[in-house]
This record gives sequence, structure tokens and C-alpha cells, in this order.
Amino acid sequence: MGAIIAIKEPLYKVAADGGYTIRVDHPSDIVFLHATDTRVPSAFALGTSDPSKHVLEWMQLGTVAFSKKDYLNALDLYSRGIAALQAEDTTVRYDLFRNRSVVNLMLKRWEPAQADAEASMVPASEPMAKENNTKAYFLAGRASYELGCYVEAEKNFAEALKLGPDHEDSLKERKRNEARMREEAFGVYDFAEIASLVSKRNRHLDHANFICNTEVRASGSRGRGLFAKKAIKANELVMCEKAFSVVFGSEHIKDLYTTVNLHTDRISAGPQASLLSTIVQKLRHNPKQAIQFLSLYDGGHTPKCTAPQVDNATVIDVFQAQAIIERNGFGCPEVRSSNAQTITGAKTHSVFGAVGIWTRASYINHACDGNLRRAFIGDLMIVRASKDIAAGDELFMQYLLPDADNSQTMAKLKNTWGFTCDCAICAAEAQTSPAQARRRKQLIKETAAFMAAHKHTADRRPSTRVIAEAEQLLRRLQDTYDAPAFTGVPRLALVDLGVWVSRAYGRAPTQQKTIDHAVEVLENLAFAVAVAGDSVVIDSSKGSVEGATVDAAVYAARAYDSLGRARVAEQFILFAEDAYYLLNGEMRGLQGRYVGHLDWN
Ligand SMILES: [Zn+2]
Repeated sequence: MGAIIAIKEPLYKVAADGGYTIRVDHPSDIVFLHATDTRVPSAFALGTSDPSKHVLEWMQLGTVAFSKKDYLNALDLYSRGIAALQAEDTTVRYDLFRNRSVVNLMLKRWEPAQADAEASMVPASEPMAKENNTKAYFLAGRASYELGCYVEAEKNFAEALKLGPDHEDSLKERKRNEARMREEAFGVYDFAEIASLVSKRNRHLDHANFICNTEVRASGSRGRGLFAKKAIKANELVMCEKAFSVVFGSEHIKDLYTTVNLHTDRISAGPQASLLSTIVQKLRHNPKQAIQFLSLYDGGHTPKCTAPQVDNATVIDVFQAQAIIERNGFGCPEVRSSNAQTITGAKTHSVFGAVGIWTRASYINHACDGNLRRAFIGDLMIVRASKDIAAGDELFMQYLLPDADNSQTMAKLKNTWGFTCDCAICAAEAQTSPAQARRRKQLIKETAAFMAAHKHTADRRPSTRVIAEAEQLLRRLQDTYDAPAFTGVPRLALVDLGVWVSRAYGRAPTQQKTIDHAVEVLENLAFAVAVAGDSVVIDSSKGSVEGATVDAAVYAARAYDSLGRARVAEQFILFAEDAYYLLNGEMRGLQGRYVGHLDWN
């Protein structure tokens, strides 16, 4: 009540009903003014609060507001006290900064909280210096922790404990911080434990980023890319990143947020619309974090202002923020990756209920096969190597699952991100003759219709005639891949139908056929498979890990097992588990996925 607001660069718009509205594009264009501000017209200032209070009065009023949990008001009152400080005000100066630091922590304004904690450090000659500085170091440590600066947080907690060895909050927070430092430096996470604790109520997780084995560098025509700083073996953790910001579907308040991008005419009303508002709020009070976000690719948008701060507020061009979200948003599942459908889904929001920004992962360029796979537990993105990666190699992930029909993949990539993929799959597809490409496209359509008409069910097995039809379709598709360009390159159109046939045979006493088709699926995904006696060697150097990789390996394992070749079966199961782990981030759900599929034992 009684607030005085200045609006920079307002736009007057005629509304649909003929009335006038004021449009404000950027939140930093709205400035709240104190009644004492010289820019306030005298008529506005009448009857508003007395500007001539003493520092101590502001301090007391702030503390009253704080005790009522009226944090925004407390922040304003402490700030007025700080503005009224005179050179001779010493003790109260430190109290005001320390109290405002606490308020900023409550409001999740981490950067101002840190600055206030530092400004509240008391000279040793002051009364209560030890106690107050214990608290100041503790507050600085808390703010550093929330900003993900764990080494700095450790320094602050150590200082706090030097002054007050029994300070319980510092002891507790230091212990928590140590776990974050282990995660950050060594990638030590207990994903099974994390997955067991995650739920719809608990999915904004308290974990550090592990990104030290990657670096951002120029990547030719792709702009920037992410590169491995050291050799990483297939299946190893490459990085783990907590969302910069994420909005889950059930957190999005329907009808409250709609974004209409006046530059592109795109309208979004789902979580993506909430994400813009969440991010803009976060950036406003955390200018250093704003730089992290605003450095991401925005499609060449030219912001109106590039100064990070004007009038003590972070300048945010919401059109730029929206452009960044549209190009860098990742879709993610509501709780965790838990089945084939949600494993590597689109980088965009369309497939999932949730959408977020992971700033480091955003630098990873796309390839349809790639050398990484991502999985999600809560707001953690877990990125593992799907192939051996050498030091200095560029890292690639699938922005979307490649379609069996390459022209579809190409079109989607072009529409959303504006580039043409030149990965091994797309390069081989480009060498397919137009006549052959047309034939393959037609057969892909036939395959989709066949699979829709003959879904596997737990209680009915496909007839011999239907299986024969599928095999014939498979052979015809295979004939379209005769170009040498496809040697060692995934032949995606063959994969789903191959899995279907392998499974169909698994239900009859024809284990060898199951194995043959399962191995063929793996080979069509560019794995090289060699089984000799009890030994299984699977070369993953060109292989593409998909849901079908897990399916094929499990079918092969179960068929070998029923043929009495347990050692071979075990090795296929281990391979399936690695692939599943890559796609899901943890092992839960693997068994359940095959219940009812494998009833031939
Ligand atoms: Zn590609």
C-alpha cells in the first residue's frame, strides 16, 4: 500500500475494448521509489512515512517486521537504516548488515546475502566481535553454499568454527558442505540412494555439480561445444548437473502464466511459461548467476542493454531470456527416468511435463548417435559416456531421439534449433540414392502400420504367418541399406521391427532365432558382437545405446539361458544393465520392465 512506482520506457497500448493499458516488457523497467526519493513528485510524497527516522528506529522496525516473517518489508526497513548510517554509527552498522543478510537468505537472494555477510564483519575491538563474526562467517558460508561455491563455503565455516568451535549450525552445515565438495571434485554420488529419496514432493535436490572433466570451447561452425578434459571410458560418469532452474508440470499453475513471444508469435502455456517467470525472478537478485544464464546461445537476439546492472538491479531483457529458454530448455520426467519412453526424450519440452535449464549441458552439441546419454533423477541431469571418449574429444548428445525416417529428424532439428546434423548417421543417410531413400521411407510407413496392428501382448503370441510377414518386411528394409556408407553406422529403420521379431520368437521354442534377431538388432545399432564358446565380446566403439539395446541384450540373455549357456547369458545381462544404467541413471525398473515379456522359461 502506498507504493510509488516509476516505469522506464512504458509502452501505451490500446486494448481490445478500446481502453488504454501500460505495457512493461522488462521487470527491471519497474522501480519502486521511497517517498524520500528526490524523483518523487511532492504531491505523491504527502502523507507517506516520515523520512527522518534515526538508524536505530529503522533497525527496530526491521526487526519487528522480521519477527512477523514480513521479509520484504524487513529488507526495505534495514536498507533504509543502512542508507541513514553516519560515520560514527559503528555497532549498529554491523547489526544492520548482518540482519539484512539473514533476510536476504530467507528471500533466497544469495548474492546480496553474501555481500551483506561480508559487510557485517566486525573489527576485533568491537564488543561481541567473536560472537558476531562467528555468525557473519556462518551467513557468508550459507550464501556461498547456495551459490554452489563450496570451497568458499568451507573457508567460511572453518573461520566460523575457529571463532566459535561449538557453533552448532556451522558444524552441521560444514558436514553437509563436505559431501558437496566430494561430489564436485570426484563425482561421488550415491544415485541409488538419491533415487530412493526422490518423489514428487522432493525433486529439487541438494547436490553439487560435477563438471570438472569438461570444458567449453569453440567448435567450428557449431559455435561453442563441450569437450572432455580427460579420457573417459564407456559407461563412466561424464558430468552431473543440478538444474539452474526447472519447473515440473504439477508446479505449473495453469492459467496464471502464458507467454506470447511478440517476436516469434510463439505462444506457450505449459511449464515453459512458468520457467520464464521463475528464471527472471532468480536473475533479478543474483547478477553473477545471471551472467551464467545470459551467456547461453540465444539465436542471435540483440539485447537492448548489455550492462549487467543499472540502478542496482540486474537488467533482464525478457525476450532474450525467452529466446535462451526456447533453444536451451531440456524436457525431463516428473520424478526420474524410469522407462524406455522417458530415457532420452527431446531436448525441448514437448514430450515431457517438466522443462528446465542446465547451463553446462546446454553447451553440448547434438549428434543422432552421440557419445553420451542423459538421465534424470529429480532435477539432476546425469550424463554418462556411451562410448569410450578420448581427452580433447567433443561431447555429443541426442537432443531428440532420432526417427527411423531421417528426413523427419532433419526437419525437427532444423525447425527447433536451425541446424543440419552432420553425424555419422546423417552423413550415411545423405549418401543414399533418392530412389532408395523413397523406398525406405515407404517401408518405414509399412513397418509402423504393421507394428501398430500386431502389438505384443502378454497372453497372445503372434502366428507363424505374422512372424514370417515381419521377417519379410525386415529383409526388404535391409535391402535399402546396401550402401557402403552404412558400414559401422546405425541402421535405425531396422531396430524396432528387429526387436519385435526377436521377442516374437522368444515366445516359441525357437531360442536360436531369438538370439539371431537380437544380435542383428545390436549390429543394426552398430555394435560388433562376437560370441565364441563361453565368451561374449561386444565392441561399443560405434554402437548407439537406445531402449532397443537393452531389449535385444535381455532377449539374447534369456534365450541363451534357456539353451543352458548361463555364462553367455550372464554377459549379455551385464551389457543390458550397463545400457539401462546409461539411460536411466540408476538400476530400478530393469526387472519390472521384462515381466510378462519373457514367459518362455
Ligand atoms: Zn544426425
